[in-house]
Parts: sequence; structure tokens; C-alpha cells
Amino acid sequence: LEDGKDTFVTGSIGITLCPEDGKQLEALLRQADAAMYNAKTEGGNRYKFFAPHMNEHAEHTTRVEIALRRAIENEELTLHFQPIINYKTNTIAGCEALARWTDPELGVVSPVEFIPVAEETGLIIPLGYWVLRKACEFYVSCAASGFVMNGIGVNISTRQCREPGFVDTIKTILEETGMNANRLHLEITESVLFEDKQIDPVFLLNSIRKLGIKLSLDDFGTGYSSLGYLKRLPIDTLKVDRSFIKELESDLDGQALVKAIITMADSLGIHVVGEGAESEEQCKLLSEFGCQMIQGFYLGKPMSMEDFQNYALEKPFLELLAEKAS
Ligand code: C2E
Ligand code: MG
Ligand code: MG
Repeated sequence: LEDGKDTFVTGSIGITLCPEDGKQLEALLRQADAAMYNAKTEGGNRYKFFAPHMNEHAEHTTRVEIALRRAIENEELTLHFQPIINYKTNTIAGCEALARWTDPELGVVSPVEFIPVAEETGLIIPLGYWVLRKACEFYVSCAASGFVMNGIGVNISTRQCREPGFVDTIKTILEETGMNANRLHLEITESVLFEDKQIDPVFLLNSIRKLGIKLSLDDFGTGYSSLGYLKRLPIDTLKVDRSFIKELESDLDGQALVKAIITMADSLGIHVVGEGAESEEQCKLLSEFGCQMIQGFYLGKPMSMEDFQNYALEKPFLELLAEKAS
């Protein structure tokens, strides 16, 4: 805590009832605890009554946590890379690094499931640095073999931003991997910036930008999307959430929204990436609306390092892009 700075404290309360939920003191305390964690995962600053499904959730979280801890220690996670394509020129503009995990017992666990557990338990700190380091190493090794991309996206979650020394550690990783800061795009969501009262978004983003790193606002349109802050914050790229692209062909309101987002971003000098395009029609529409940067299964799924490099060999104009970028 710093002198002279306002701090906002909120409380999360879990409630369990005796005798309705049970009569054993220890079980009751565990249940109240589970209800409190439930209140926290729903955003905190609220109370929750215990319900049986919360125990199941707690048990599952514990199972995932134990396995994830082991997986991080043994470096059993991998990174996949999904291309971001310039649709107009059919070149690879960049890629996004996405964490992948297959546990011997749990099988393939989606990041949608394990990232929140990693957040809840603090494991996101070592995991996040590991992802960042591996992504930088991948970018540097691609560039060394002539595949120079405009950038590589790495997802960052709330807990990481709150970690003291976060920005310094990024700096160290850049230096140790020989990564050009300008080519690193940190992807953050609006909830990182606005839901956590401990984070001062202007200060955080400016200190990241000072290193030369680019910032992307991920899943744009699903959170506050208050447009005023876009002017205040040093955002380079908006990634329009998949939910807008999913039914773009048939959804006229969705089309109007996507067009408006692109026009607004253009006028603020912010780049736009359309996320989750699954058909040629969706890519064409995005391109017509003025969004040339597209990431989606139609153009390329997330793939292993080797598959990505083979994929890159087949894309025309990559050499040209490499020359321009270097
Ligand atoms: P995200 O950052 O928005 O990443 C894009 C997600 O959309 C990826 O899911 C990707 O596979 C999926 N996607 C891309 N194109 C399409 C498409 O055309 N159709 C469909 N249906 N899906 C598409 P994934 O890999 O399951 O990751 C989910 C989320 O987990 C990510 O969303 C990100 O928020 C988080 N995540 C993944 N890796 C990391 C990481 O290393 N650190 C952190 N903090 N979060 C991560
Ligand atoms: Mg992302
Ligand atoms: Mg996204």
C-alpha cells in the first residue's frame, strides 16, 4: 500500500445453515468456506448461501490444482500458436500463444478450465512467466529462420498484473530471450483493467508500454466496452470477441456493431483483429468492414510449434513481410 493512495476493500461472505446443511462443525465450516469462494469467483463483494454443487466445485478445483502444480513443475504444459492473418495480402501478420495441457489422468484440460484455477490458486504466476518466456523463445527462433512476424500475442490475467515486480520480470524475460519488445503484444481483457480495484489501469499500461511492448484488448465487446477509456489508455489493438463474429452472416445488428467498432478504432488509430472467424463468408464481411487482421479456425487453428512452422512455409508473401519487418 502506498501513502496517499485510496484503497477499496470489499468483503465476500459464505453462509451455511445449521441444521439445514448439516450438524458437523467441521463440515459446516468447510461449506461456508466453499460458499465464500463461490462468492469470490462470481466477482466478490457479495454473499452466497452454501449449495451442494459448491462442494463438487471445490473438490474438482483441488484435483485440478494438484495436477496443475505437478504439470508446471515437470514442464508438462505446451504452447500452441494460432496464426493471425492479414486477409487482404494472405500473409501471416502474427500469432497468439495459447497454453495447452494434457494430464495423464484428467486428459486434455482446456485453458478455459485450468486458467481460472491457476488464477484462484496463484499458480498463474509461475505459469504466466513460463508462457511468456516460451512465447518469446518461439518468436525469436522463428525470426532467426526468416519468419519475422509483426508480433506474438500472450495472454495476461488479473492476478499477474497485481503481482509486484510484474513489469520488471517481463523486462528480464525480454532480455534473457533476446526478444524485441515491440514484437510482444500482451493481451488483456477489460475485466483485468476495471474489475480489480487494486489495479490502476493507466499506471499499469503505461509502465508496460514504457518497455516498448504493445497492448491488445482481448475479447473486446464482452465487458464494459465503455468507449471513453479507449482514448485514455495506450491500447494498440482491439480483438473483437468471437461472439460478434459467430453469426455475422445472419446477424444484421451484429454487423452494425462490428462496423461501428472498426470505424471507432480506426479513428482512434487502434488496430482491429477479428477473433474466431470460422467461414470464408465471415472473413469476407470483416474485410469489407475494414478489418483485415483475422484470427480464426477458418484461416488456421492453434497448432504446435512444428505445425506452425510448416504452415508458415506454405503462406505466400511471408518473405516480403519478413523483409519489411526486420
Ligand atoms: P483468448 O485469449 O480469447 O484466445 C482465443 C481462444 O479462441 C482460443 O481458445 C482459441 O482456440 C479460440 N478460437 C480461435 N479461433 C476460433 C474459432 O474460429 N472458433 C472457435 N470456436 N474458437 C476459436 P483456447 O485456446 O481454448 O483459450 C481460451 C482462453 O483461455 C483464451 O481466450 C485466454 O483467455 C485463456 N488462455 C489461454 N492460454 C492462456 C495463457 O497462457 N495465459 C492466460 N492468462 N490465459 C490463457
Ligand atoms: Mg487472447
Ligand atoms: Mg479473445
